[in-house]
Amino acid sequence: MSASIEEFDIIERYFAGKIACAHPNVVLGPGDDCGIFTPLEGQDMCISTDTLIAGTHFPLLCAPDIVAHRSMAANLSDLAAMGATPFAYTLALTLDAESATHLWLDRFTDYLEKFGGRYAIALIGGNLAQGSLSLTYTVLGHVSEGQALRRNTAKPGDDIYVSGTLGDAAAGLRCLQGSESAPDKETPHKETPYRETTALVDRYYFPTPRIELGQSLQSIASSAIDISDGYAADLAHICKGSSVSAEVWVDDLPMSTALVNYAGEAEARMLALSGGDDYELCFTAAPERGDSINALAEQLKLNITRVGRITEAKNNEARVVLLDRNSNEINLVRSGYRHFG
Ligand SMILES: [Mg+2]
Repeated sequence: MSASIEEFDIIERYFAGKIACAHPNVVLGPGDDCGIFTPLEGQDMCISTDTLIAGTHFPLLCAPDIVAHRSMAANLSDLAAMGATPFAYTLALTLDAESATHLWLDRFTDYLEKFGGRYAIALIGGNLAQGSLSLTYTVLGHVSEGQALRRNTAKPGDDIYVSGTLGDAAAGLRCLQGSESAPDKETPHKETPYRETTALVDRYYFPTPRIELGQSLQSIASSAIDISDGYAADLAHICKGSSVSAEVWVDDLPMSTALVNYAGEAEARMLALSGGDDYELCFTAAPERGDSINALAEQLKLNITRVGRITEAKNNEARVVLLDRNSNEINLVRSGYRHFG
């Protein structure tokens, strides 16, 4: 840290004294060599860690609110995918010259406090360093013993569902990167109304971790994953983990009007299948759970769409098969998720 803004001053002023939120099971927050918490009775602890780097996982020189939201939401989303209730986190923050300022830290921690407070997650420790801006969170969540949602428990015959809409974040990223990266310069990119590109960019910057949905799915879903790499890629993780295959009804994938207006129907479908960063939940459930899932969608005021079915893996090969409305297999997925930059 620079002489004007010292590490201990930052910890004291912005973290230990500001964000640490009270939880009856947190014995000691940031400031000592370790944080301390008492495990919750009858609960399994879920733990996950994830790093976000400026220029790779979000654009350089992003506003501190965006950095705070995106980085924490991505981590909370992993807890959501397990059906866990957020409990506590640590944050290892590496600051560059732009972010090691009172102005930046003030806004960043204001937002983190507000956003973390919404999910009642307590900061219990962290680390500060100097370098390129990056954030590594370790998040802890709790779930009733044996009830965590996993990737390796989908069964042939299960239906496949997805929350929200798909592809918006990838389109938002494309808006940010400019028309240069559009595969087809004739895409209706430039004519897309400002309101809609803003909606897409917001989906990229401000994803909603589906915590409530995950918690509610504990007794309903047979497996779950959050969509960070792209729908087809993340569903493939469930298939591989569970040694099953999946058929996906591509025409049923939920897409926003903003996405379709921006990218056109065909490109929108491609983004819905392979675009990353949506942080929606993909889950499987036995067919008799259909009514509970519809009721849940109503209760949470959240779109939940049935988009396919789990099948036996033929010859031990776990596959995601994409079907059009005539049940013909199609090959649409462009390879993989591309990070920002
Ligand atoms: Mg994940």
